[in-house]
Parts: sequence; C-alpha cells; structure tokens
Amino acid sequence: MAINIDSKIPEGPVAEKWSNYKAHQRLVNPKNKLKLDVIVVGTGLAGASAAASLGEMGFNVLNFCIQDSPRRAHSIAAQGGINAAKNYQNDGDSVYRLFYDTVKGGDYRAREANVYRLAEVSNSIIDQCVAQGVPFAREYGGTLANRSFGGAQVSRTFYAKGQTGQQLLLGAYSALSAQVNAGKVKLYTRYEMLDVVIIDGKARGIIAKNLVTGKLERFSANAVVIATGGYGNTYFLSTNAMGCNVTAAMSCYRKGAYFANPCYVQIHPTCIPVHGDKQSKLTLMSESLRNDGRIWVPKKLEDAKALQAGTKEGWEIPEEDRDYYLERRYPAFGNLVPRDVASRAAKERCDKGFGVNNTGLAVFLDFSESIQRLGIDVIRQRYGNLFDMYEEITDVNPGEKRATVNGMDYYNPMMIFPAIHYTMGGIWVDYELQTSIPGLFAIGECNFSDHGANRLGASALMQGLADGYFVLPYTIQNYLADQSIWPRISTDAPEFAEVEKATEERIQKLMNIKGKRSVDSIHKELGHICWEYIGMGRTKEGLEKGIKLIDELRRNLTPTSSFRAAARV
Ligand SMILES: Cc1cc2nc3c(=O)[nH]c(=O)nc-3n(C[C@H](O)[C@H](O)[C@H](O)COP(=O)(O)OP(=O)(O)OC[C@H]3O[C@@H](n4cnc5c(N)ncnc54)[C@H](O)[C@@H]3O)c2cc1C
Repeated sequence: MAINIDSKIPEGPVAEKWSNYKAHQRLVNPKNKLKLDVIVVGTGLAGASAAASLGEMGFNVLNFCIQDSPRRAHSIAAQGGINAAKNYQNDGDSVYRLFYDTVKGGDYRAREANVYRLAEVSNSIIDQCVAQGVPFAREYGGTLANRSFGGAQVSRTFYAKGQTGQQLLLGAYSALSAQVNAGKVKLYTRYEMLDVVIIDGKARGIIAKNLVTGKLERFSANAVVIATGGYGNTYFLSTNAMGCNVTAAMSCYRKGAYFANPCYVQIHPTCIPVHGDKQSKLTLMSESLRNDGRIWVPKKLEDAKALQAGTKEGWEIPEEDRDYYLERRYPAFGNLVPRDVASRAAKERCDKGFGVNNTGLAVFLDFSESIQRLGIDVIRQRYGNLFDMYEEITDVNPGEKRATVNGMDYYNPMMIFPAIHYTMGGIWVDYELQTSIPGLFAIGECNFSDHGANRLGASALMQGLADGYFVLPYTIQNYLADQSIWPRISTDAPEFAEVEKATEERIQKLMNIKGKRSVDSIHKELGHICWEYIGMGRTKEGLEKGIKLIDELRRNLTPTSSFRAAARV
C-alpha cells in the first residue's frame, strides 16, 4: 500500500515560510485554551520549555518524566554550548549562514524549511534565556561571549562554562516551576510512559507506570507531545546516561508513528576512551575544548608503541615528533573540523597503530600551546570544570606542567576517542512537529526533522529549545483549534482499558521468561554489535553481518518462543 507522506511545508520562499505560517495558522481563543489538556512527556530542554510555554498560554499541561526531578533530564549533561545567529562577533554570521551551515552539516538531508525556521528563532532563544537569568559567559566588558564549534567558520556558540545544558535546563525549569505554581502544569515525576492510547485514529492519552508504586496509570488529553530524547543507548556505551531509554518513542512507532533516518547517529570525537569492560557509560569531553586544544598522535610508530606499553607519557614526546594530523590534513578548519571528520581521522590513525593508550584506541588533546599563550587562568576560566572532570575520572591533570624544553612548556595531554553521542534520526514529524498519528507530536532529540546526517555541535540544544519555546506552542494550536468542541475523553474509555491490558501482558511476559542472562549483558552484546558493524565506518558486508548477529542475538535470548515474541513486540 502506498503511503502518502505529507510534510505540510508551507508555500513560498524558504525565508518567508514561518512568518506566513504564523500569520495564517488557526489559533485557540483564551477561553477554549482552558478546556484543553496537553500531555507532555519529558522534562529535558524540549519538554520543559514546551510544558512551560503551553502552561503560560493557558492550556492545562500534564508533564511527565522518569527522574525524580525535571532537572535531572539528560539535557543537564550538555556541556559545550548553543548556537544562534546573533553575529555578536561581527564575523559575518547571519540567519542564512546558520541555516546553510546546518543544512550542509546535515549532508543536505535535513528538511530545509524546518532548518531555516530553526535558524530564525535561534536568536529569540538567547534573548529568552538571558531574560530568565541563564548565566551565559560574558566578555570582560559585559557583552555575551561566543566560541567556535566544528564545521563553522564563525563563532556563534553561546555557552556557560562547560555546563551549558545544566544552566539552560535551570532556566527552563524555573519557567516550568512558575507554571506548576500557577496550577497550569501538573508534574508527574518518576513516571514512565509505556504506551500511547489512540482513539478514532487520534492520540488521546498515555499509559504510564508509576515508578514508585509499580502500578500502571491512565492519562487522557487532547494532544500528546513526546520529548523523550534519543536512542544513542542502543550502542550500550555512549555519552548518554543509562536512564535515557527509547521506550516512549518505540511505543509510538509500534502504534504506527513513522520513524525516520535511524542510521544517523552522531559520533563525538572527544570522549574519554573506554578503559575496561565494566563500564556502562562514556564521558564526553566537550567539543569546545577543540577551540584551544590540539589533537595529535606521535609521528613515529615506536613512540606510539612505548605509549601503549606504558613506558612513555605523552608530555615526553617533543614537538617535532608530534603529528597534529587534523591541522596537517584540513588547514582551513584545523582542529575544528566537523565531528564525523575528526572521528574518522582518529580511527584511521589508531587503525594504523598510532593509538596512544594501552588499548591503542585513543589520541591526544593537548593544551600546552594555549596555556603557554593565554595562561592557565584563562584556560581554566573557559574549561575549568572539564579539566576537573577529566582529572576525577583519569587521575591526570591536563593543567599540570611536566617539563619546559627549548622554551616550550609541556603539559599532560588528555586522551580522547570517539563515542556515540546523539541521534539525529527519530520519530518522523511534519512541519508542525506532528507525527503521522494525528494529535501526537514529537519535539527535541526524539524527532528527526532538523538535522539530517548532522556532523555539527551546539545545534541540538538550539533545536530542543526552538521546538519547545517557539515552534510547538504555535503549531499545536493548528491541531487543537477544533478540539475544544469535544467533551473531555474519559480514561474509562475501552481503548484505555485495552492498551493498559496489553501493556500489563507485555510486562508479565518479560517478567516470566526465567532467562539465564541479565538484561544488561544482552544490551551490552547488542551495543557491541552496533558499534562494530553500524558504527563509525560502515560497509555493505559489515551491515549485513550486523543484521545477522542482531538476529542471532534476538533468537538466542532464550529457547522459549514467548520470549521471542515479547522481544519483538
Ligand atoms: C554528554 C552530552 C553533552 C552534550 N552537549 C551538547 C552541547 O554542548 N550542545 C548541544 O547542542 N547539544 C549537546 N548534547 C545533545 C543535547 O544535550 C540533547 O540532544 C538534548 O539535550 C536533548 O534534549 P531533549 O529535551 O530532547 O531530551 P532529554 O534531555 O534527554 O530529556 C528526555 C526527557 O524525557 C523523559 N523520558 C524519556 N522517556 C520517558 C518515558 N518513557 N516516560 C516518561 N518520561 C520519559 C526523561 O525523563 C527526560 O525528562 C549533548 C548530549 C550529551 C549526552
């Protein structure tokens, strides 16, 4: 059966689409807003900003998250910064250039109408967050500071030390809390959405598990918004917390919401390398470090071998024996090449035997030159918390001077290696951020729309906040405009009972397996297959092997067919 996919992209030149859309979309009048309920699942930057905005507009919002506080959504982990086309540096930036860089960075696979809108509203995000009191870094004179991120030749990234996500989330959380206090948002923390309820073809509610009591509960609304993050944890080891699961998005997919571009997984070049098989998570060292850090491996194989054997340390290798391979190969961008280029180049050097740690899977990120040029205080102002984090995890202080030779100071270099970081694929949405199920919307990292095969940084925070503060609050009204004439849907409706029963049965099936392996061990094996065969370098043979191994893993989980059925649902 042919499927008609309508992206609902407005007519007209790309730069006018959003203004035209807003000028002609349907609105909900203030009285009717009071009659309309919206479920928002997720309290990360996308969910919290959407819930706060919808509450402030007058809708009744039910806002869910797995964690014990909205502030623990994984957006809190974002370090480096958020892009906007302010052109504060007077270096030639503009809405068009941010649009162009993002489309190019996404290998021309993003939806251009969405990306243009994203670039347009990027400036409003910064104004909004400054008004909330987000402590963005400032120049000595008080103006907002910017730094550079890979793949762009302008400095357009706004940041708060190495904890931008945390500060932005505190801003969104305070906006959310104001609406909780005003009675417009009801928070449901420690709830996990397990399924979406569809009535007459429209999303009308969710089934969620109360993680404190273990009970399933029903919630109804006029529209459901999922803002539940990405699926990077498929790879087991990633920079995501283990709690970032894809249950909500998968339940929507099973109910018929399209899923798009799952192959687009961003691999971040600067993470702390894997150091053993007991790890469940990898730690990001923000891309911002590439502003001042230089990436290198030894020129000589014997030096690499000595580093791998532990008989030499990085600082002992003199300047002339270092290969700053990104600066050598890509002089126009140097260490700030896009993420995929930096990741593949690190893999290539390590595959050739130049890796610098005991596994041979690491390269150096070195601040010796910038510390000597700018002084340790300036470098610590910019990256202090990242230096501390690195030292806490590895017991090596990248700000420690080890030697001065011929006037050059040598500091401990960091060791880094690429890791799974962010997912650009996700639930398919149209221009209005509505999925293929009417009344079901998807925002932030869990949708697919704005990034294509994205190689850039600082654009995910921008998208999450654009969706939540500036896009969804408009587009959802186009759907809700005629919903207020219908009576509130009761959770006693048979459709709720059916979905709850099916959810309960699925849980029971899984609980009754009596398997011999831990869930974690299966997840780990899946992650290993994905990393090996669907990771940084992909070939036809590798992908076919990966599919075969995943199929075998699934078939060998247990000998019982009921488990296999449960694993497939
Ligand atoms: C270490 C790290 C650093 C990063 N640094 C940057 C950066 O510097 N710049 C940048 O632009 N991007 C960065 N990113 C990417 C960016 O942080 C994320 O893409 C973005 O924050 C995702 O926001 P979100 O609101 O879509 O999802 P999240 O912040 O992941 O929030 C998901 C929410 O959904 C809830 N949830 C999930 N499933 C369910 C369920 N079934 N039921 C109920 N609730 C559920 C969770 O509890 C949570 O509240 C970074 C990512 C990582 C991992």
